[in-house]
Amino acid sequence: MPKPLTDQEKRKQISVRGLAGVENVADLKTNFNRHLHFTLVKDRNVSTKRDYYFALAHTVRDHLVGRWIRTQQHYYETDPKRVYYLSLEFYMGRTLQNTMVNLALENACDEALYQLGLDMEELQDIEEDAGLGNGGLGRVLALVLACFLDSMASLGLAAYGYGIRYEFGIFNQKIVNGWQIEEADDWLRYGNPWEKARPEYMRPVHFYGRVEHTADGVKWVDTQVVLALPYDTPVPGYRNNIVNTMRLWSAKAPCEFNLKDFNVGGYIQAVLDRNLAENISRVLYPNDNFFEGKELRLKQEYFVVAATLQDIIRRFKASKFGSTEVVRMDLTKLPDKVTLSLWDLVPKMNGIFHLIRFVVIHSPSSFSLLQAWDITVRTCAYTNHTVLPEALERWPVDLFQNLLPRHLQIIYEINRRHLERISSLYPDDHDRLRRMSLIEEGEQKKINMAHLCIVGSHAVNGVARIHSDIIKNTVFKDFYDMDPQKFQNKTNGITPRRWLVMCNPGLAEVIAERIGEDYIRDLGQLKKLLKFVDDDAFIRDVAKIKQENKMKFAVHLEEHYKVKINPNSMFDIQVKRIHEYKRQLLNCLHIITFYNRIKKEPNKSWTPRTIMIGGKAAPGYHMAKSIIRLITAIGEVVNNDPVVGDRLKVIFLENYRVTLAEKAIPAADLSEQISTAGTEASGTGNMKFMLNGALTIGTMDGANVEMAEEAGEENLFIFGMRVDDVEAMDKKGYDAVEYYNRIPELKQAMDQISGGFFSPSQPDLFKDIVNMLMHHDRFKVFADYEEYIKCQEKVSALYKNPKEWTKKVIHNIGGCGKFSSDRTISQYAREIWGVEPSLEKIAAPDDPR
Ligand SMILES: *Cc1c(COP(=O)(O)O)cnc(C)c1O
Repeated sequence: MPKPLTDQEKRKQISVRGLAGVENVADLKTNFNRHLHFTLVKDRNVSTKRDYYFALAHTVRDHLVGRWIRTQQHYYETDPKRVYYLSLEFYMGRTLQNTMVNLALENACDEALYQLGLDMEELQDIEEDAGLGNGGLGRVLALVLACFLDSMASLGLAAYGYGIRYEFGIFNQKIVNGWQIEEADDWLRYGNPWEKARPEYMRPVHFYGRVEHTADGVKWVDTQVVLALPYDTPVPGYRNNIVNTMRLWSAKAPCEFNLKDFNVGGYIQAVLDRNLAENISRVLYPNDNFFEGKELRLKQEYFVVAATLQDIIRRFKASKFGSTEVVRMDLTKLPDKVTLSLWDLVPKMNGIFHLIRFVVIHSPSSFSLLQAWDITVRTCAYTNHTVLPEALERWPVDLFQNLLPRHLQIIYEINRRHLERISSLYPDDHDRLRRMSLIEEGEQKKINMAHLCIVGSHAVNGVARIHSDIIKNTVFKDFYDMDPQKFQNKTNGITPRRWLVMCNPGLAEVIAERIGEDYIRDLGQLKKLLKFVDDDAFIRDVAKIKQENKMKFAVHLEEHYKVKINPNSMFDIQVKRIHEYKRQLLNCLHIITFYNRIKKEPNKSWTPRTIMIGGKAAPGYHMAKSIIRLITAIGEVVNNDPVVGDRLKVIFLENYRVTLAEKAIPAADLSEQISTAGTEASGTGNMKFMLNGALTIGTMDGANVEMAEEAGEENLFIFGMRVDDVEAMDKKGYDAVEYYNRIPELKQAMDQISGGFFSPSQPDLFKDIVNMLMHHDRFKVFADYEEYIKCQEKVSALYKNPKEWTKKVIHNIGGCGKFSSDRTISQYAREIWGVEPSLEKIAAPDDPR
């Protein structure tokens, strides 16, 4: 049997990875050596792997520079409408390979390093993830934004991502004695070769102070100033020579920070206190789908918005258009040239009133708040990504009053007009006024940021069809009734560059062999694969790639977890943040049930499974942390049971992050997307698995609904309550105990958890989980248990027939076209931002020599 190709050999075969021409390779070698010498100041005798990684990164980066400058010049010349994405999170992962893929440099670099006696893959593994986000779009859609930046550059949009350069990104998860331990993510420790500091564009951001009413109008005075120092990271498009910018702000104390202390002799203390101001960009809040009303968080939100808006208006005024005499001071033209996309909780609402403030300040005094408001609404669009009430941002008024007193006044003024309008449309409907107010009354007055966003935007959208319907019919129904034309849907997507070409070269290649490589920019072309559903050779190729990916991942698992993996078992994977609504506990109940069945009939021919669950729990979320402990406890029992053998293994994948996703997802047979219907806004993990040839077991939730529509419902394993069923059950009341008493296998599993079967030394270890599931489970795990187990039986049965399984896989891959973030971005561009995407290239600069 021929030895399977290594990834390196495989990549060389793929023309979509660029050609390793002799000249190209020679140049890369020269530049690599030059960087090792001049940039890293090392020679080959003393260089470490990390030095080599940096030399490679700089060599690749050189190829971006000309394109980056050229793109920005091009934008200046053509002055297109700019698209600004503001977010507190950008979950970018690694940059090196992505850059090589988009610049078609991968094969050439591989060859150059090979000739230098180095292994490119090994060097790539040294790069730290830029984990400046929590994952998915629950709380922060950070990953979606990373996909969107890639798509915006690939579609030639003049787009900018703006966020915070956290010194510490999402924590690293360690599993110690089965529990999650958090470690700080010191990702900048060795330096970041991809960023460029731009101190010349530093901006002041004001906090605290008070409002003064003077003859010249209202003033915000006695503020504390923090400087926002920008760092730019290039965002290359896919082979179109476009390089956009992600600009992340870092907090710097001004030189005169706490100067008054100097005068009383507190010089040392004053310098030490600079840290306090700089804490703003110290660390990412690690919550997922949970709002924590901390002052530092509000500071972060305001910091990014205030710095960014100054930058946007500076760029507007410096643009050809903005610099013409007439227009310079006329910000009424801003909406023609600028669109602000406000995601997550934060910037959304802040952006709105801050924009108003800016327009007022930076315009002739005749400019009224009304005009400013009009500009704001025409400029801003709001994307909602969760309906979980605990995730919606509601800031205590007191906190606001202290930190941003002038902004609070403006919010009150906006609210006054908003309520006036409601009163005129719905006279005497006091309940509606209360429900729709931007200010929630109660023990503690709160500002409802989602309401502010809706009122302050010309467009509001959800991120999957079902989610957009839910927001219209439930949380934002009053707003929909009043302004139905504002509401839209934009189903999320993922970038096929990172999530196929980069992470699964084998599959990308097999597809390219059949339908050419244009599908990488136009994912709808995957439909052409449906012609090959019955083509034995194609079925064999797809199955073979999956098997290779599994073997490779199995090696990683065996090394890491010291567990013997059966590579012929079904790889059943649930990776995502640990959260009750995502229902990792439902998965646990299936594992236990499957285990009990094997034990009961050990001689039956069970379909073997390796079940992997991974994900981080927010550090303060106790239930999520207990869920991790339960998974590891089940693993300890199951994996050491000789009766079970290699028919069932349970592995908790430690430290789930983009880099691990890129390894695990291509190896998955089964993708678990089992949230309670109506709770997952869209999900993006579901799409990544589908594109990489896994079949989905899932509920009719989020984007699963559209995945089933695109691939054919018969090609997914759909089970459980629909949104209507969940609503009906909420009305009638959910009675977990009834299920427990009625379903013997469920009862057995629960009794094992509560009786210490999985935690013999500490029988009550899981009492909180048990109590929650039995008595206050908001996500109704037991209600879907029976159907889930039955559905898993169907999965196991089909897996016994590899050919039929792979045919379904091909239907799924063929139906993936809709889930490209290129499609998502094109829709935002045309239907919300008023800009036209394009697949045209701009001219290439001369590459570095
Ligand atoms: C895609 C992705 C997510 C989102 O997964 P969902 O299943 O949509 O919640 C979270 N974290 C990482 C690292 C990812 O790559």
